[in-house]
Amino acid sequence: MTALLIAVLAVALAVLLWVLRRQNRALRNLREAVRRGQPLLREDVSGGGLTAWPALVEATNRLIADNTALRQQRTDQLAQLEATLGNLREAVLIVDEANYIHLANRSLRDIFPAARNLVNLRLELIVRSGPFLDYVRATRAGQELPREEFEIIDGPHQHWIEASGAPIPSPDGKSQWALFVIHDLTSQRKLERVRRDFVANASHELRTPLSIIKGYIETLVDGHETMSLEDRAKFLKTIQRHSDRLKSIIDDLLVLSRLESATPGLQFASLALAPFFQGLADEYRHRAAGTDHEIVLHVPSEMAPIEADGEKLTQVFDNLLENALKYTPRGSRVEIGALAVTADEIECSVLDNGAGIPAEELPHIFERFFRVEKGRSRETGGTGLGLSIVKHIVQLHGGRVWAENREGGGLAIIVRLPRSQKT
Ligand code: ADP
Repeated sequence: MTALLIAVLAVALAVLLWVLRRQNRALRNLREAVRRGQPLLREDVSGGGLTAWPALVEATNRLIADNTALRQQRTDQLAQLEATLGNLREAVLIVDEANYIHLANRSLRDIFPAARNLVNLRLELIVRSGPFLDYVRATRAGQELPREEFEIIDGPHQHWIEASGAPIPSPDGKSQWALFVIHDLTSQRKLERVRRDFVANASHELRTPLSIIKGYIETLVDGHETMSLEDRAKFLKTIQRHSDRLKSIIDDLLVLSRLESATPGLQFASLALAPFFQGLADEYRHRAAGTDHEIVLHVPSEMAPIEADGEKLTQVFDNLLENALKYTPRGSRVEIGALAVTADEIECSVLDNGAGIPAEELPHIFERFFRVEKGRSRETGGTGLGLSIVKHIVQLHGGRVWAENREGGGLAIIVRLPRSQKT
């Protein structure tokens, strides 16, 4: 009897275990189907004999189908929006309730090139600006905020943007998203900074000789009756030197501002290079007589002429040759060269065998008022504007200019020019 009971209980337990295992498997399949968003097949889900199972499967399948349709609809809507907004010049950004980016048009990707694929990233990873993230949050919450400017640090880059936004309902209507129109102000702000720095530098450069002149004049006014003739002459010479310097700075500033204006006034004509450089070499051999500089010319006499403004190019090579004489010791060698590099371009160079320029300073020497040796430049009447004038003239010819330190020591300034000017 007991043995029979035990046998019955064992069978019942086995059946129960079998049912539980099937139910477990059915539940696992159900969970997996929901996770993957794929409807359940009937054979997957016998449900271990539960009577409510078919209804549950049907309801789940319906939910999955609705969800898939909604997702597809949302993808279609975003694709449509992306197609519409993609080519707008204004940058457009849409973020969801958790700050995930759902739309970032091309202009926005141009502002933040470090993040190539902005979609599906969190905004915080791209735009590291507490104030902008607060603005996003407040906009999404429905606050009406005016257009605002933000400074954004993106690794080594600094951006300035102006944003305005509005809350929008999410495609499923269940949450609040936000849409922003963003203008990139970076180049504008950088230009303003360059202008500000320039005004500050120019004022400083002008003030230095002016204060010296003022100081000497005051001394002369107060003491001219008692002052020796010798001192007076010395004072007047200093005043003359500093007013010459003032004039050079103002002249160079005027040249630069004309070159940067809408009408730089270049007159292009055919320019024969061999006589052009021969004339320069003769003049600088003459000028260098007192310092024993050797001027060497490497310009093939058969070089075809180029289209250029001869007067402005003279200004370029005057600046380069004056520098080569100023910044190298007595007896140094200065080489002037020109050669055809391609059918459309020529390369001219002024090389010296002086000390060259420290590598870290090299990228800056074409900037306005940049000097490597401040004292030496001032002493020799330099304004710090010469190479920047050179760069402007070369660029107005459609060319490029750069500086390199030479292997054996000394500086090479290379000027690449097109043979003809595009009209
Ligand atoms: P500056 O009027 O001071 O000569 P430039 O713009 O012509 O101004 O040159 C900028 C700086 O570059 C100079 O102050 C000088 O320090 C450096 N430089 C220019 N040419 C040479 C050269 N050939 N060798 C060494 N340093 C040079």
